[in-house]
Amino acid sequence: MAHIHNYSAGPCILPAEVLEQASQAVKSWDNNGLSLVEMSHRSKAFVETMEECRALTKELLGLPDRFEILYLQGGASLGFLTAAMNLLPEGGQAAYADTGTWSAKAIKEAKHAGQVNVVTSSKDSNYDRIPMVGEVESQNAFLHITTNNTIFGTQYAAMPSSNVPLVADMSSDILSRTFDAEPFALIYGGVQKNMGPAGAVMYAVDTEKLGATGRNIPSYLDLNVHLGKDSMFNTPPVFSVYTTMLTLRWLKAKGGVTAIQKENEAKSALLYAEIDRNALFSGHAQTDSRSHMNVTFRLNDDSHAAQFDAAWNAAEINGLKGHRSVGGYRASMYNALPLSSVEVLVNVMREFERTHG
Ligand SMILES: *Cc1c(COP(=O)(O)O)cnc(C)c1O
Repeated sequence: MAHIHNYSAGPCILPAEVLEQASQAVKSWDNNGLSLVEMSHRSKAFVETMEECRALTKELLGLPDRFEILYLQGGASLGFLTAAMNLLPEGGQAAYADTGTWSAKAIKEAKHAGQVNVVTSSKDSNYDRIPMVGEVESQNAFLHITTNNTIFGTQYAAMPSSNVPLVADMSSDILSRTFDAEPFALIYGGVQKNMGPAGAVMYAVDTEKLGATGRNIPSYLDLNVHLGKDSMFNTPPVFSVYTTMLTLRWLKAKGGVTAIQKENEAKSALLYAEIDRNALFSGHAQTDSRSHMNVTFRLNDDSHAAQFDAAWNAAEINGLKGHRSVGGYRASMYNALPLSSVEVLVNVMREFERTHG
């Protein structure tokens, strides 16, 4: 499988050595004869895995001490509700930036918890940019952002400065670049975009902000309940957590987020340069909102589509088809995708221009 250039948007590419170690652990974990997926999550080995996973996450994200990490179930889609339940006071309000399909879903779920004020939106231009967020009125408990819009290929070039605490869905750019965590109250993300296999959602929560909503939160949605049980309130998704821990070890050994950010910038620079140079293609996202993780582009002449699809398929590229709400193509270039895979795609585009231009 190693020769396939995997641009899948999620679940997505993981480091080959991580898949190797994870598959070994499914057969026999640490050669003790038991599979990772057939033993108790209360075993010493798994409790240590969960603790290492939580500690590495906090370290690699560079979070202040007051933050704690949880790995739970329900994906980012339950995170939309969980975030609002834990941080939006009973009868209170929160501000939301509407920058794509996932933002819109976050807004919909937050309405179960209180008043949602959509303070900015780029919906009118099919979410082709990150609109500015001005001063947020102080009755808002927080400002919710989606740092990277997986479907539309837009990303905050820098986190917005905000007079209220930030809450962020970072599902598709977590651990891809450094940022200052100081303004954040909560960061969450499904692990299947940049951290591990599907099955877990990561929460990084400022513990000082919890317990102040005045509402009676159902147990599974209450982050304080999970913190009190060290992320073991119920059976965790053991395979997802274990493999995420392996990916975090891999990232740390590579030099952490600072090192991977350089690689991610090199990959996206190479592909955007080709989109801008090549007369057959154009990008979806406005230049100042372009994502380093998901690059959206299209053929200027759709009648070439079948031939272009055949060309990248022949180069053993997987997962390049765009999401139906944007059309065209989407190259998802998460941490584990090597620069050499981007070189292969760029060569296909160059060759296509030479033969079809
Ligand atoms: C994929 C994705 C989600 C949905 O994640 P699930 O874990 O499937 O619920 C939410 N937000 C963003 C930004 C995503 O990319």
